[in-house]
Amino acid sequence: MLDIPTTHKELFKTIGEAAESINQQVFVVGGYVRDFYLNRLNSDSITDIDFVTVGSGIELAKSVAKILNTDQVSVFKKFGTAQVKHQKLDLEFVGARKESYRRDSRKPIVEDGSLKDDQLRRDLTINALSWNLNPDTFGTLFDPFNGIQDLKKGLIRTPIDPATTFDDDPLRMMRAVRFASQLNFEIEENTFNAIKKMAPRLSIISKERILDELNKIIMSPKPSVGFSLLLNTELLHQFFPEMVNLLGVEERNGHSHKDNFWHTLEVLDNTAKMGGDLWLRWAAILHDIAKPPTKRFSKSAGWTFHGHDALGAKWVPKIFKRFGLPLDERMRYVKKLVRLHLRPIALVSDEVSDSAVRRLIYEAGDDIDDLMLLCRADITSKNDWKVKTYRNNFDRVESKIEEVEEKDQMRNWKNPISGEDIMKALDTKPGPVIGRVKDRIKDAILDGEVANNYDDAYQYLLRIKDDYLDK
Ligand code: ATP
Ligand code: MG
Repeated sequence: MLDIPTTHKELFKTIGEAAESINQQVFVVGGYVRDFYLNRLNSDSITDIDFVTVGSGIELAKSVAKILNTDQVSVFKKFGTAQVKHQKLDLEFVGARKESYRRDSRKPIVEDGSLKDDQLRRDLTINALSWNLNPDTFGTLFDPFNGIQDLKKGLIRTPIDPATTFDDDPLRMMRAVRFASQLNFEIEENTFNAIKKMAPRLSIISKERILDELNKIIMSPKPSVGFSLLLNTELLHQFFPEMVNLLGVEERNGHSHKDNFWHTLEVLDNTAKMGGDLWLRWAAILHDIAKPPTKRFSKSAGWTFHGHDALGAKWVPKIFKRFGLPLDERMRYVKKLVRLHLRPIALVSDEVSDSAVRRLIYEAGDDIDDLMLLCRADITSKNDWKVKTYRNNFDRVESKIEEVEEKDQMRNWKNPISGEDIMKALDTKPGPVIGRVKDRIKDAILDGEVANNYDDAYQYLLRIKDDYLDK
């Protein structure tokens, strides 16, 4: 008997009986079965389970809902599918089908089919495994394409000729890479070659679906696995040319710079190891994105990338927009980290003034800790001594930050002087001068010339106001 959580077993039996009562065969298929054999079934994180039936998926869903005594059934007539919500689970029912595709669209022409027909149209052998749930044959495995063997070997392979699988739905190329990255599997040679050949077909896939898979690659335990595959299959070239541009090393007069593509992947893996969320990982991906256009060589300084931080930050909104990533505070967070990622290094020297530290705390606000994480992830030297030194340097910067924080509480700082105060003092109306005065007060406070409170700041305003009268 299947060694799965009891609640699922009971549910599967109920579904098997429901199918039997309407004379249909039913199977659980896809991710659930795959994850069972991979020992990664985690009943807390399962949100949806897929069932395929020979016959009508809609009729079966209705019959299941009746037995489970729920009216939470959604029917999608156009697709011949239905969904039953049961406790925290979405149970998806579909009739077994045969599909054929037109070249210009993912929308299939669908006919009824057998279980095998249905397995044939799935993306990967490891996703085509299924168990029968009818009472007499409960738990019987159907694995017509040696998916179990591929799971054991750690192989990503299509059930049929990969050219057909990918031509029918090019998104499957992204899914192949995504599963390779999540599971740390290899892509079987024919499948790999087919992806490489057909990568340009990704152009018919919507950016939302591409982003969905890309974000799953980014969130996998070692995202570099997926990104190396994206690069080598040239899928990356289809949607992320800026990242491909990071690839390569140039040498001049015996000086070479590091390969910024592989460096970026190391930084990304490091953020993953630190438990970084999607947005910290995006910051890692984009932190050096503008290195290629800022690259210079001079005899005195060797290779430099001056301004890649500012230019990279400038690119963040347009890259986010193109991918369909959110253009809200999450974008601003990534932009901020890209812009500031060199600043902590500049604070390493002993002579650094409090005011430089204060400025960074002010600019980073609550994201200062994440910025320090990114900087630590950015240490990718192969030289242990260097790594140790850099880490110690950041330890020192962090204690400086703590010290200054404790003294002045600059995080989320707000200017104590308002625009109203300035207009009153200058006896003037709103205009650009107000912003200039406000900035000067801000600078004076951040530089430690004026104490961080209303009274001192107001006295300062009175002292400087003559500079702005009639101007
Ligand atoms: P997870 O939900 O853990 O990401 P999953 O395998 O359940 O993995 P889903 O996207 O939920 O992935 O899809 C469920 C099943 O439907 C897959 O296992 C696969 O059999 C099939 N499937 C999904 N998308 C495609 C596709 N584009 N082409 C072919 N089959 C697909
Ligand atoms: Mg799923």
